[in-house]
Amino acid sequence: MTKKIFLSIILISAAAVAMTVALITGLLSRSYREQAELQLRDEGIVIASGVEMNGGRFLDEGDFGGLRVTWISSGGRVIFDTEKDPSAMESHSQREEVRAAFSTGEGSSVRYSDTVRSTALNYARRLSDGSVIRVSAEHFSVSDGLSVFIRPLMMILAAAAALSLLGAITLSKRIVKPINDIDLDRPDISGSYRELSPLLTKLSAQNKRAARQVEELRRSREQFSIITESMSEGLIIAGAKGNILACNSGASRLLGAEPPADGASIFTLNSSEHFRRCIQDAMGGKRSELILSTDGCDRQVIASPASGVTGVTGIVVFIIDVTERQQLETLRREFTSNVSHELKTPLTTIYGISDMLENGIVRQEDVERFGGQIRSEAQRLISLINDIVSLSKLDEDSLPRQDEEVDLYDLAKAVILRLKSSAEAKQVELSLTGDHVLFTGSRTVLDEIIMNLCDNAVKYNVSGGRVEVKVSHIPTKARITVSDTGTGIPPGDLDRIFERFYRVDKSRSRKIGGTGLGLSIVKHGVMYHGGTVRAESVPGKGSIFTVELPTVPKK
Ligand code: ADP
Repeated sequence: MTKKIFLSIILISAAAVAMTVALITGLLSRSYREQAELQLRDEGIVIASGVEMNGGRFLDEGDFGGLRVTWISSGGRVIFDTEKDPSAMESHSQREEVRAAFSTGEGSSVRYSDTVRSTALNYARRLSDGSVIRVSAEHFSVSDGLSVFIRPLMMILAAAAALSLLGAITLSKRIVKPINDIDLDRPDISGSYRELSPLLTKLSAQNKRAARQVEELRRSREQFSIITESMSEGLIIAGAKGNILACNSGASRLLGAEPPADGASIFTLNSSEHFRRCIQDAMGGKRSELILSTDGCDRQVIASPASGVTGVTGIVVFIIDVTERQQLETLRREFTSNVSHELKTPLTTIYGISDMLENGIVRQEDVERFGGQIRSEAQRLISLINDIVSLSKLDEDSLPRQDEEVDLYDLAKAVILRLKSSAEAKQVELSLTGDHVLFTGSRTVLDEIIMNLCDNAVKYNVSGGRVEVKVSHIPTKARITVSDTGTGIPPGDLDRIFERFYRVDKSRSRKIGGTGLGLSIVKHGVMYHGGTVRAESVPGKGSIFTVELPTVPKK
């Protein structure tokens, strides 16, 4: 802008100077020429009267300075000329000034003369004998006159140009300064040109509106961020080309990636081909899902397209940790298949024996043995179903809490009493020590815990072995330990014995009536009471199972 104003000032100044110079030159040259013509006429009159009185002698003797004098006869022939030999000169009757003098008595002209090779002012005057005296003087224009002063003139012009340049710079800067000084964020109307005030008022209003909108945007972004950051699920919002617009920390955590940089591609969060295809499907307008399994963790990725009038404008991606769900699903599937298998085995035996009995192919002396087998298989089925029912009750968390104060010592004593006959049959000695510890919990579940531990301690014992049950009280906890002198459990199996249907020796367990669910029921029963259970064992020497139940309710 400064440049434009500067150039305009310079151009206007230059045009004004040029016009003034042209005008003055024009006026000057006009008056200069008029002066010269008048002077030439006066001189012409004097010379004409001289010739009139003295004839050609006047011309021969006269000194006319720089003037050219020509005498032309009435017929147009040149009689005398101060510059050229008259005999070599052509007729002058048709010269403009001469022709005028012949007809009116005098005439003048301005013409380029080939003889003197310059522009000349001519004046002609008719004499009484009809001849004509013509005087000519070289015509000097104003510019010719000015050429003498060209040097000082140029200097004056250069000085004027420098001055106007300086003036133009200062002026243009001064004009622009108030505009440059405007603070566009806080325009001050009073400090600037009045003409700018409507613009500045509008700017100020727009600034306020923009600031309000920015603040609203910031607040809603903050709110969005607080909400999405508190989510345990991952959330990614990306543009139509996959550039990330928002990504909560849950998303990068679940995908095992670093928090993405602003505008980074969504594909940088996971390099797997499945993830890429899922996102590309969403970008193509199709909702897509997948399960990403890494390091034993399962993440469900749901990518949905966000469609506008112009097609897919972006995508929304949800990431959910489904590890537990997947594990439960696997467990459920395994459990169902295990249960079917466990139920099928005794039922097949029962079916086979009853078929034989029905067809009368069993000898009378074997009937009792087969009957006993049916009975024991049926007993196994009942135990299995009872265990499944107990477990599913604990599993579903649907067990109505009927907590009561239970004396764990008395409960253990009752269990030992129930196991007395089977222990005697195996020649295993059962003993109980400890204190009367009162614990508030489910009597049925606590009974199942102690029963399963003691039953196993007898079942997996050796003839002449011992089982010791101890009930004690440790700070904030009730502790029940069941130790036996049985077969023990190999270290490799110790971690797995609490899994459903896990048995160290499958055939042995089945033979002695095990279902593979006893320790699972113990684990869930203990968990139901917020406690812990652990097993220690030395193969060939025996095992110790320790249950600890918190007596102070957990907050
Ligand atoms: P089961 O009905 O087969 O006894 P459990 O869940 O009660 O099933 O026990 C799982 C497995 O752990 C058993 O099959 C057995 O191999 C082992 N086990 C449990 N208790 C003992 C113990 N006291 N001594 C040795 N092995 C045991």
